Amino acid sequence: MQGFEKYYRKTWSQRLDILTQQNKLSEKQVEQLKQNAVTPVLGEAQIENFLTQFQLPEGLALNFVIDGKEYLIPMVIEEPSVIAGASHGAAIVKKTGGFHTKSSRRAMRGQVVLENVTDLVATKKKIEEQETELMQAAVDAHPSIVKRGGGPLALKVRILEQGLLSVDLIIDTKEAMGANMINSMLEAVADKLRTTGHHDVLMAILSNYTTECLVTASCQIPVANLAKNGLPGLKIAQKLAQASRVAQVDPYRAATHNKGIMNGIDAAVIASGNDWRAIEAAAHAYAARDGQYRGLSTWKVAGDQLEGELSLPVPVGSVGGSIGIVPLVQVNSALRSEKDALGLEKIIASVGLAQNLAALYALVTDGIQKGHMNLQMKSLAVSVGAKEDEIEQVVSVLQKLPQQDQAIAQHVLDEIRN
Ligand code: NDP
Repeated sequence: MQGFEKYYRKTWSQRLDILTQQNKLSEKQVEQLKQNAVTPVLGEAQIENFLTQFQLPEGLALNFVIDGKEYLIPMVIEEPSVIAGASHGAAIVKKTGGFHTKSSRRAMRGQVVLENVTDLVATKKKIEEQETELMQAAVDAHPSIVKRGGGPLALKVRILEQGLLSVDLIIDTKEAMGANMINSMLEAVADKLRTTGHHDVLMAILSNYTTECLVTASCQIPVANLAKNGLPGLKIAQKLAQASRVAQVDPYRAATHNKGIMNGIDAAVIASGNDWRAIEAAAHAYAARDGQYRGLSTWKVAGDQLEGELSLPVPVGSVGGSIGIVPLVQVNSALRSEKDALGLEKIIASVGLAQNLAALYALVTDGIQKGHMNLQMKSLAVSVGAKEDEIEQVVSVLQKLPQQDQAIAQHVLDEIRN
């Protein structure tokens, strides 16, 4: 686009000036971008063509007892009711001991994909015989992780389909998610395969399907504790289990079931400074692990208990990427006060299960809208221009009306102002 040539080479203020020079924004709008850039030096260190820092609200989820310890969980999200839902789900579980978690050994996976492989079986065997040499190449590419007690753990070769082979490296990245160190190690392995084996390397990159980094959160709730609106707890527990079954058999429902889980997980992950796209990718790939996309959590009634379980890969780090450089991430870590990346994984899985419990409980009792509407009405009031002192007035009028939409909210605001 004209005027934006070599935009990435301009300074921050030059980039902002171009926006007015090219009539893309007014002076006032550019001033807004400037005001929102609280730490421009940090922003420029994080991304390219930096303009400003886009804000999302952060709130605190309460009532989380996980493996016997109570946690405060900061969550960053723009959607109303998510933090309330997580806190509500956690409060139900807290009454009977809280969440229990278990995890696999934390390891990540990267792959070097070979193409034009003529004899797949023979090549697989040959590369497997080179395991020690290839693992050493990986170590040499990032020796500091070995000093930290991590490094490559295993090499696995998978035949993908005709002509294609994946050489997978399983790596212990210790406290880091490890994308960058994995990619450096994989490129070294790829070089070795190219030079010593004359293999045709298509690409070398970590896999976000982190099946070696699984965590499970579970809980048990006496069905009697779920009684509501005159409905017996057992009936509600059975409906909840039925809702969980639907998410196992119907991908249309499973996607929404999992979106609800990820509402909480993404919010907790963003607050932790981790890469939430990586967590999303891992979760949805895992949800389709047997070939059909299914709900990530399951609920069943066992005697007088409702039992819930959520298993998913949670490849987060406590160091690396934005974690060490964004000051709020450090504040959030102090709030959560977990010990390490594994502790964070367990918190995140518990948040997902609490969120899921709250959503299913609402769905099989009052429906999802009742709880949503209060904050939704606040958003509606703000969207039509209500000022701080007008929001509550607009909301209280809206609450009494049979329907609420933008036109109605605008009308209510106009009436208040006249
Ligand atoms: P970094 O590149 O920041 O690496 C982690 C750093 O932490 C290392 O340099 C390591 O130092 C240091 N470190 C300090 N203490 C420890 C410890 N106890 N254990 C392990 N490392 C420690 O981050 P990652 O490699 O974790 O990569 C994450 C970033 O990569 C994210 O920002 C993500 O968005 C991005 N990314 C994601 C991709 C994907 O998901 N597909 C692809 C590419 C990038 P030392 O080197 O001295 O050992």
